[in-house]
Amino acid sequence: MKFESYSFAPEIIRAVSECGYEEMTPIQKLAIPPIRRGQDVLASAQTGTGKTAAFVLPLLQRIFDKPCELPASVIRVLILAPTRELVAQVADNAKAYSRYLDTRVVSLFGGVKTAGQANKLKAGVELVVATPGRLLEHLQAGNVNLSQVEVLVLDEADRMLDMGFIKDIQKILQATNKERQTLMFSATFSGGVRQLAEQILRRPKVLAA
Ligand code: AMP
Repeated sequence: MKFESYSFAPEIIRAVSECGYEEMTPIQKLAIPPIRRGQDVLASAQTGTGKTAAFVLPLLQRIFDKPCELPASVIRVLILAPTRELVAQVADNAKAYSRYLDTRVVSLFGGVKTAGQANKLKAGVELVVATPGRLLEHLQAGNVNLSQVEVLVLDEADRMLDMGFIKDIQKILQATNKERQTLMFSATFSGGVRQLAEQILRRPKVLAA
């Protein structure tokens, strides 16, 4: 199945085809329709399956469909990932897919000064990709407002739990809008992942590709 069949904006189709994608991968075929309908999703997917595009493309489409001016520091989509490398990779993909859109994508991770990241947040951004620790620092410093988050994604949820991020994730969840859509992607469904899923997902579509 091709990306054209899922009625993405021509700007998104063009960017995806410039990435060299022709057919959708299995996780993309399974995950894109429920995500576009606004359903919560719990997906088992390994790295290398095309899972990033599976959640980023429908979220870009959502922002494109409902453009809105938000006050500085208020964000619409939040993607949490366990490591700096993964955050950078997801953000690079999101920037490539949004090449022909006005969507602003910012990545937040540790090991670099917070000031530059804070300035970008203040200048206005729709989509943030972050490690839990660095996001929490920005939240506590008042640099980011999560009260209007429409969609929250936990990418590699099992690794985030293994790395001890559960407390940070709980604090972040408390600061987000309770009406949000929530997506969890995980290579494995450990006890911790299931427990978190039960706590934060509402009637999720459970997928395995
Ligand atoms: P991911 O599992 O998201 O880390 O993606 C693994 C690799 O597959 C990345 O290099 C993507 O650019 C690539 N990719 C994602 N979707 C597709 C697709 N539909 N066709 C070809 N390559 C893809």
